[in-house]
Amino acid sequence: MNLDFTPKECCGLFGIWGHNQASYLTYLGLYALQHRGEEACGIVSSDGKEVFQYKGMGLVGDVFNGEIIKSLPGDRAIGHTRYSTTGASLLKNVQPILVNYSQGTIAIAHNGNLVNALALHNKLEKEGSIFQTSSDSEILIHLMARAKAKGHLEALLKSLRFLEGAYCFLLLTPSALFAVRDQRGFRPLWLGKLDKAYVFSSETCAFDLIGAEPLREVEPGEVMVVDEKGLRSFKPFRERVIPSFCIFEHIYFSRPDSKIFGETVHLVRERLGRKLAQEHPVEAELIIPVPDSGASAALGFSQESKIPLEYGIIRNHYIGRTFIQPFQLIRDFRVKIKFNLLKDVLKGKRIVVVDDSIVRGTTSQIRVRNLREAGAKEVHLRISCPPHKFPCFYGIDFPTRKELLGARFKIKEIEKFLNVDSLGYLSLEGMLSCVKAYPQENYCVACFTGNYPVKFGREGDKFALERKCCGE
Ligand code: AMP
Repeated sequence: MNLDFTPKECCGLFGIWGHNQASYLTYLGLYALQHRGEEACGIVSSDGKEVFQYKGMGLVGDVFNGEIIKSLPGDRAIGHTRYSTTGASLLKNVQPILVNYSQGTIAIAHNGNLVNALALHNKLEKEGSIFQTSSDSEILIHLMARAKAKGHLEALLKSLRFLEGAYCFLLLTPSALFAVRDQRGFRPLWLGKLDKAYVFSSETCAFDLIGAEPLREVEPGEVMVVDEKGLRSFKPFRERVIPSFCIFEHIYFSRPDSKIFGETVHLVRERLGRKLAQEHPVEAELIIPVPDSGASAALGFSQESKIPLEYGIIRNHYIGRTFIQPFQLIRDFRVKIKFNLLKDVLKGKRIVVVDDSIVRGTTSQIRVRNLREAGAKEVHLRISCPPHKFPCFYGIDFPTRKELLGARFKIKEIEKFLNVDSLGYLSLEGMLSCVKAYPQENYCVACFTGNYPVKFGREGDKFALERKCCGE
């Protein structure tokens, strides 16, 4: 089996222009965006002449140290945290990807997934492109290299129209920083200011950490450029399309203390929990959140149902990527190392466990078993979104339909599989009523409905490019 199999998934982006501590602030920004990608990270900086880079596998705090940050001088930088769960990954795929091409040196960092990556890759290769990575992000650089253009900006604007799918890009050259968001705005991207410096981040929690002021979200279909002339905005796409903000960013992926798509994630999750309590009330003594993913929704459920919230599951946050698996030695080790149970709280109680989602169902099944072993009398499971029935081709890591529990079974069957006393998922209408900043049709709900806002052919298979590059 070839393990060089590197799907591009949801990631974190941070960029800054015009600050003498650019790489240190980028390091802090990535720290705040760690949840968007724990597999690898990197920073590219520039002093206006030269470009410097450092990338590594692992968490931001493990990859970087003071010495490394010092080796990344300059007043401009971009950084990336990478999320990928399938197979081994290689340093060459870690971003930002730094290349020299016809217009000069450029670094690129990408959050999202291009649905026509394979078609573009095939075409470009036939025409002579030599790819260095198996990542779809490199495609933009090859398109820019071919564009008949005077400079990076024109090359970028000419190339974007070939891309289909979900993308936020940050690109850095010695003389400019570019921020790009696709026409539908699937993934979040913010513009902020720190003193005189412009900053960009996937989520506002990174701005809070460094004391930057959020100015506004980069608009869907917008290209921003920061250079010695200041900040400029371009709208290179002629046709207008309605946005498709990924609702799962609100449900699970983004941090609760971030603001995305016009509202604070925690407040949306609290509303989801309240709605869930209205749709699926239950007679119970305690509401138990699954930390951290179910915390805000559990609070909303408790407020609405008037059943007290209690911590029954405690999470260990210090799980490295490489602990030694004892295999059969300790049952349910994978789940137990992350979550321990408060037996004295749970014993003899009828509990409602609130979580954000069920994907494959394996974790949830083990968790319910452990809760019963810890003495819970009844376990009622409440999920703050509808059943996941379809994979995401726009950057969230969901398995195929064959592996998605919600696609394989009816609710009653899932209830039996998980061995819960009752199971309640939030309805699609209920979920959509909890996002208030935009009209409901402005959110992508394809993972629940199968209505994909950007169509794709065979190349929509998000692993097709990796299979091609890795000869699978
Ligand atoms: P499972 O019961 O195995 O399907 O796991 C459910 C848990 O996975 C929930 O607690 C979710 O918070 C979490 N989860 C949901 N989506 C993802 C994702 N894309 N990547 C990793 N974990 C996820």
